[in-house]
Amino acid sequence: MQAPSVGGVMLPRGGGETIRLSRGASLTDFAEKIGANPASLVAVMMNLGEMVTATQSVSDETLQLLGDEMNYTVQIVSPEEEDRELLESFSIEFGENEGGEEMLVSRPPVVTVMGHVDHGKTRLLDAIRKTNVIAGEAGGITQHIGAYQVATEVNGEERAITFIDTPGHEAFTAMRARGAKSTDIAILVVAANDGVMPQTIEALNHAKAADVPIVVAVNKIDVEGADPTKVRGQLTEFGLVAEEYGGDTMFVDISAKQGLHIDSLLEAVVLTADASLDLRANAEQDAQGIAIEAHLDRGRGAVATVLVQRGTLRVGDTMVAGDAYGRVRAMLDDKGQNVEEAGPSTPVLVLGLTNVPGAGDNFLVVDEDRTARQIAEKRAARERNAAFAKRTRRVSLEDLDKVLKAGEIQQLNLIIKGDASGSVEALESSLLQLDVGEEVDIRVLHRGVGAVTESDINLASGSDAIVIGFNVRAEGRATQMADREGVDVRYYSVIYQAIEEIEAALKGMLKPEYEEVELGTAEIREIYRSSKLGNIAGVLIRSGEVKRNTKARLIRDGKVIAEDLTIQGLRRFKDDVTEIREGYEGGINLGNFNDIKIDDVIATYEMREKPRG
Ligand code: GDP
Repeated sequence: MQAPSVGGVMLPRGGGETIRLSRGASLTDFAEKIGANPASLVAVMMNLGEMVTATQSVSDETLQLLGDEMNYTVQIVSPEEEDRELLESFSIEFGENEGGEEMLVSRPPVVTVMGHVDHGKTRLLDAIRKTNVIAGEAGGITQHIGAYQVATEVNGEERAITFIDTPGHEAFTAMRARGAKSTDIAILVVAANDGVMPQTIEALNHAKAADVPIVVAVNKIDVEGADPTKVRGQLTEFGLVAEEYGGDTMFVDISAKQGLHIDSLLEAVVLTADASLDLRANAEQDAQGIAIEAHLDRGRGAVATVLVQRGTLRVGDTMVAGDAYGRVRAMLDDKGQNVEEAGPSTPVLVLGLTNVPGAGDNFLVVDEDRTARQIAEKRAARERNAAFAKRTRRVSLEDLDKVLKAGEIQQLNLIIKGDASGSVEALESSLLQLDVGEEVDIRVLHRGVGAVTESDINLASGSDAIVIGFNVRAEGRATQMADREGVDVRYYSVIYQAIEEIEAALKGMLKPEYEEVELGTAEIREIYRSSKLGNIAGVLIRSGEVKRNTKARLIRDGKVIAEDLTIQGLRRFKDDVTEIREGYEGGINLGNFNDIKIDDVIATYEMREKPRG
């Protein structure tokens, strides 16, 4: 067969062979599969009228087009498929109950609370948590682990319900986007004084798309002007018809604030589950399920809340969760009590993993430590490759608009670090939903829980990404490295603020006037208690200079514990001083703020006017 040539470069044309490429692959990946030079594929694409760079990740259609041109059958493999194949190579099937019907026992429904902002989702989750303590387990203090279980009596029988404790559909969607099904039933909260609002409809659509039955909680019926009937009427338009109007959706009027009719709502959940779902699982097999929330804890290491979906998870089991693995050292339930095992639909906090899995990552128990490690390593390698494959050039939010106008990049690369996987997922999915026109794509190269590290800066610098720290700061030498490499690192503590700024930058409207400059950091070595001044931190200045009356924040395990503090008192030995330099010890008083611990870091900063570039 005659090989085509582009600009004098010979191209290895295929003979219709099938090549498999990951979703989001680049021309370089394609070239590697067929043993061609990436530049020649760029040229081929140009001939076809598409300008793409060799390393840019391209659409499924572009890969197919290139495949047709080069005479290869391109098969695009989704990340979920890739993972299924990986597990199959270890003879593991994920997602199915083992054995036949006779092995299945009923399990409690898993519920997510969704609805418009301020309609009372958080309040409702609190109300449910407080009013219900599983009989015989009274006394346990509920801990926030990302999910909890309550019991309610329905037709004289005690029935359990599991609640995912992160309100809102962001987490729900993020998990679904990863192919994870976490929820059996959605409670749609609608405030009776406000009625159906945009996010009500969005939530409803997400639940429908996921094929999850909905129970409507008409909230705030205690408020004057509340009109529960109107809510029923409004929702009819969206296909949710109340039972009393001949439909099949249960509506319950509640007041989360006054704890009114919470029991009826729980009953409605159980009845809806019984009527429309067959919730059964094999409780005997090796446990499988999903990670709901995870974070790094200084004392305990990686801490992950997992929801067991089938099988029983036991202390001592070897598990893989996303790219984390390990032996379950201990498990705690939602009351903070140690448990030995957890069956289907039970959320438990697991200790013993090597690192922090992402929200929505699947988990499974395997027979051997070695298998767990291999699966985790393969997954980690895949993520790394995917991230590195997407390198382009360096940008900052300020010059983004210019670069975009010059047509230099079509893609804004982001690295997101946060304090908990739930918030990272929520931020990521909100950012990915930003409507920024056709010219630019937002791509998240890496996401994770914990401080912004040197490795994050490396990745950012290699791929011109902007780093977003949500409720976390940089650790070690990451800040200096970012300065040196010119990597733009942005810190936020409010999701909306992060979204607004990125959106503004994309629209070329960002006008920064002040920037934060770090002055110094101090590590707390000792704590002195003074009856007059409260807690005084005995510190060693780790970097820069700490000055009296400057702004400070408190960082614990890489996470920001408190913002907007002031260095009110500064002492060396018995003397008040105005500043202390790197390498020296001293005492710091943060005014009324007393929540300090040994090993915390006090970081001081000031706001400086930023030169316009
Ligand atoms: P979310 O944004 O949906 O999580 O809403 P929140 O749970 O934070 O509630 C928003 C506001 O409404 C808070 O000030 C709550 O105290 C208030 N709220 C929630 N439920 C009720 C209710 O049943 N009655 C009244 N009067 N206020 C409520």
